[in-house]
Amino acid sequence: MSTNSWLRRARCAVHTEREASAQCRGCGRLFCRECVTESEGAVFCSPCLAARTAPLRSSAAPSWVRRWGGQALALAGLVSGLAIFFALFLLLLSAVMSYPAQYWMGGR
Ligand SMILES: [Zn+2]
Ligand SMILES: [Zn+2]
Repeated sequence: MSTNSWLRRARCAVHTEREASAQCRGCGRLFCRECVTESEGAVFCSPCLAARTAPLRSSAAPSWVRRWGGQALALAGLVSGLAIFFALFLLLLSAVMSYPAQYWMGGR
């Protein structure tokens, strides 16, 4: 019967019309050949492969870099922005101070 045909012939979790030919090592679901990727001698579906490669990729950098890297960059940008602003302010101040005193005393 059609009700138990899927038991005998497992189908891909994504393509229900296709026969499954591989089982994901990560989640154990069945997939067709197109839906799995072979990695380190085992097959994984794309979500599991992404989940597997994500920690491997990020392990190259220490955890504090991952956690604080963005904030450190933002802080560095803020600090450099403030430094540029302060330099411009000093420049403006020195330019203003270089004006003759009578300019400020009312004699235009
Ligand atoms: Zn999986
Ligand atoms: Zn499939």
